This record gives sequence, structure tokens and C-alpha cells, in this order.
Amino acid sequence: MSATINATRVAFIGLGAMGQPMAQHLISAGFEVVGFDLSPEAKAKLSAAGGRAAETISEAMLGADVAVTMLPNGKIVRDALLEGNACGGLKPHAVVIDMSSSAPNDTRELGSELSNRNLRLVDAPVSGGVKRAVSGTLTIMAGGADSDIDAVEPLLKAVGQQVFRTGPVGSGHAMKAINNFVSGAGVLAAIEGVLLGRAFGLEPETIVDILNSSSGKNNATEVKMKQFILSETFGSGFALGLMAKDIRIAADLAKTIGLRLEALASTADTWDAAQAKLGPSEDHTKIIAYLDNSL
Ligand code: NAD
Repeated sequence: MSATINATRVAFIGLGAMGQPMAQHLISAGFEVVGFDLSPEAKAKLSAAGGRAAETISEAMLGADVAVTMLPNGKIVRDALLEGNACGGLKPHAVVIDMSSSAPNDTRELGSELSNRNLRLVDAPVSGGVKRAVSGTLTIMAGGADSDIDAVEPLLKAVGQQVFRTGPVGSGHAMKAINNFVSGAGVLAAIEGVLLGRAFGLEPETIVDILNSSSGKNNATEVKMKQFILSETFGSGFALGLMAKDIRIAADLAKTIGLRLEALASTADTWDAAQAKLGPSEDHTKIIAYLDNSL
């Protein structure tokens, strides 16, 4: 296979809030996209955008040079690739790019299994949310051999603005879990800051304005508090269950490595408890309903 893959057939598995706009950017960039999702509506959207919808994962992968997975978690990614040997139909030495937010140690194992089948794995999770998936300006953190990332760089650049190379397979997923821990802790801090200030008598909008002009500013104060939380629209497009999963991945990673990180442990526990109370499919910004408790 040539070093660079561009006018190529891509199997795209997982056409949800993130995967759909990403697949559509690939179509616009000239890739031949054959997609699969459990949802018939998601497949219909892909067809309307100029892609081809497959009946099964195996059919989507048959003869593809690259397989992209954008699925809820790494276990689902693994099953999608290996169950019924779906990835067996990919071209020899094809690159599998897992762009989901999966657990890094599982990704390493998957990399070995794919390598035994003459396939290559790049983990390339993304940050930026639905808004930046739609605008094609995601941040991508790519783990894998340089030559494998080189081979799929045109594809990554069609969906993202910046592609960071993080090291060997699994390192992109480790970085993504770290990012979402910091992001998820920032959401908790921003909401609790507003709850505290409001209870004292400050105006919530004023609190957010002042944080955004001060050292307390973070991603949640800038793009979530007014837009989705104070407005009570709760429409960020990122599910609570996915955020809880990502922060638990970071907490599990710390445990595996033998690090005791207090803020990480309590952040993971808080998101898990909120998920248990509100349900995994609520928007993650709805966590204010869990945090807003009077003594
Ligand atoms: P989503 O729930 O909107 O989409 C997931 C899609 O996968 C759905 O359309 C679902 O039908 C499909 N699916 C589930 N199991 C399947 C299977 N076995 N075979 C085929 N399709 C299957 O989720 P999303 O928000 O698009 O997130 C996808 C991944 O991206 C997750 O790992 C998430 O953590 C990560 N992520 C999400 C965001 C965000 O803002 N939404 C941002 C960055 C990363």
C-alpha cells in the first residue's frame, strides 16, 4: 500500500452525533465512504449526503483501505471489528482508526490482535464536541506508528484542524481520558461556583461574565454555562454517560499505574453518581440537576 491514503474507500462505523458530520466531511473531501450504524435514520442521513449505507459491519468493511470507528466505547469497537471477523474483509495492511474515546489498555490489546491479522491500528480520539465536528475543526490526538499515522493523515485532516501525535498505540486514548477528566472537573467547578454565588445573592450571568474575565475561566464557563446550563437548553450533544465513562477511564488508568489522585477519584465518583440518578443519555450539562442540592 502507498504511504498516503487519500482517494480511498473508508468504512465508517458509528454515525451518531459526532460520526455523522465526520463521515460527511470525508465525503466532501473525496473519500468513498461506506457507513454502518444500528440506526436506520443515521444510515439514511449518510446516503442523503452522498455516502453508501451498508447492511452489516462486514459489508461496510469489505474491500476498504481504512476503517474508522466512532462508537460509544472501546468494547463496542472491539466487538464491531472482531465479531464474525468483520475486519477480515478489509484490504491487507488496512489501517483501523478508532476515533471513539476508548480505554487505552484495551486499545493496546486490540492493536496486537489487529496486527496478528495484518491490520494496523491508530487511536485518534477527538475533542471539540459536535460543533467542531460539524465545522471540521476537531482537535485530534493520534497514537500509533508514525508511518501508520502518515498513511491516514489526509483523512484525519479532513475532519480535524490539528493532529497531535501522542506516541504509541493507546496514547491517544490516554490523552483523551486525561482531557475529559480536566474538562469534567471544570464543569463541576463552574456549576458549583455558580450555585454558591447564587445562594449568596450574586446573579448567575454576572458570575459567569466575571469568571470569563478572570483566572477562574475554563471551557465550561466559556462555552457551556450560559449556552446550555443557565439557558436550561441542555443541548451540547455530549451525553452524561459518555463523560462519566471517559473520566472513569482516566481514574482506572491512574489505579493501574499506581497513582492516587484525589481530585480525579472524586470527579469520577461524582459523574458516576449523577449518571446513576439522571441516566446516561441526558446531556452532560444537565449535571446541574444533580449538583443543585440544598442542605
Ligand atoms: P452517539 O451516541 O451520538 O453515537 C454513537 C453511534 O454509534 C449511534 O448512532 C449508535 O447507533 C451507534 N452504535 C452503537 N453501537 C453500535 C454498533 N454495535 N454498531 C454500529 N453502530 C453502533 O455518540 P457520540 O456523541 O457520537 O460519541 C461517539 C464517540 O465519540 C464516543 O466514544 C464519545 O465518548 C466520543 N466523543 C463524543 C463527543 C461529543 O461531544 N458528543 C466529543 C468527543 C468525543
